[in-house]
Amino acid sequence: RNLSPCFIRIYCVASDAVETALHVAVIGSGGREHALCDSIAQSPLCNKLFAIPGNAGIRACARVVENIQSHETEKIVEFCKQNKVNFVVVGPETPLVEGLVDKLTEAGIAAFGPHSRAALLEGSKVWMKQFLKKWKIPTARYECFRSSQLAKSYVEKQQFPLVIKANGLAAGKGVIIAEDKTTADQAIVSMLDETVFGSASTEIVIEEYLKGEELSFFALVDGLTVVPFGSAQDHKRAFEQDLGPNTGGMGAYSPSPLCTEALENEIIQTILNPTVQGMMKEGRPYRGILYCGLMLTKDGPKVLEYNVRFGDPECQVICPRLKSDLLQVLYKVATGRTKDLKIEWNDNLWSLVVIMASQGYPGAYKKGTVIQHLEEASKIKGVKIYHSGTDLSPTGEWIATGGRVLGITGIGHSIQQARDKAYAAIEQIQWPQGFYRKDIGWKCLNLETGSR
Ligand code: AMP
Repeated sequence: RNLSPCFIRIYCVASDAVETALHVAVIGSGGREHALCDSIAQSPLCNKLFAIPGNAGIRACARVVENIQSHETEKIVEFCKQNKVNFVVVGPETPLVEGLVDKLTEAGIAAFGPHSRAALLEGSKVWMKQFLKKWKIPTARYECFRSSQLAKSYVEKQQFPLVIKANGLAAGKGVIIAEDKTTADQAIVSMLDETVFGSASTEIVIEEYLKGEELSFFALVDGLTVVPFGSAQDHKRAFEQDLGPNTGGMGAYSPSPLCTEALENEIIQTILNPTVQGMMKEGRPYRGILYCGLMLTKDGPKVLEYNVRFGDPECQVICPRLKSDLLQVLYKVATGRTKDLKIEWNDNLWSLVVIMASQGYPGAYKKGTVIQHLEEASKIKGVKIYHSGTDLSPTGEWIATGGRVLGITGIGHSIQQARDKAYAAIEQIQWPQGFYRKDIGWKCLNLETGSR
């Protein structure tokens, strides 16, 4: 980062990469953005790095712009102009759906992430399902409803379980798996009549329940070209044995042992290529990372959801495995130069993240509790600690300020080794008011030992 411009130009010509030193801004404030900033800061192409609004942990690798929030589009564009930011990486979905990349593009600033027209793949489940049907991309059978009466009478004729989804963004809470009619009716009424998710639930999707293992598959897309970017599996439920309420994610590991080369090819052929080509034909070219949430059914992989951004915590297990220069990769994708893009991974490395959350999460939790011995934990070789909800007190103590607070990532030559490192680091950390799951990776380890 502190290289002279002269050296940077020589480096860039030699690597046929990026013709200018980049002043980068990463938008967002979670563990995902900490992982992105940590990797981007290591790039020789990175001349300046801002995080908007960032968080206290990100201060170690970027200049944090606390007074601008990620939804404040006009302020972000103005800040970028004033600070000569020439590349923006957008972390969360809301600014993408609300058109931040559209505005940055209008202002002549390169940005990683889709325009709002393409971000609809995540912004509206109704639109996404209609798109999948139109382009014959495998997904669960479904119907859409605006009337609770019609939805309830439809449900009467269906088999359970059924899946009920709010149309718009609902911070990961808009999906109910209904085991019986009473639960289904309650979900329908709360979404359509009581509009618990506001305008996000004035329309719902009711779909068939798919059985199988879940897999997250990532691809970089520059409009037409699809470049695979790894796989992961996550643990969404709050408590061990995958019990309790759904959360933003309590842990993840990468790569997924389910993702063989044959499966990867099938996902690209039957899902990613038709999606990207369909988006292009509809005049909504997709650029950025496309996160496919898949169910591996006996009839092949089917789409559960698309995310138009890096997952969190999945990003915290993808970034540490990457050998390629992340900034160069993202910049090439954003500027449509993926033709010769090769992604290199650190050989045979696995990573596993365990999320530490405030007790009570995903419900109400106390803020301001003290976390001790973080520094000791971060010194363990093969451990990365990403912050998502911390602050530093005036006396220099780390305090918890959010629901999900820390992501403790272990990196090793097997999933077991990665896991051991993550949990060894957690043992160092003293935070009585926090909690974490002790079984992250269990599915993967059972698979490895063949004991399922
Ligand atoms: P989504 O936000 O649509 O991915 O849904 C969140 C979670 O709900 C997924 O990760 C799955 O665990 C579950 N889910 C969603 N749709 C289905 C489905 N059709 N069948 C079974 N589980 C589903």
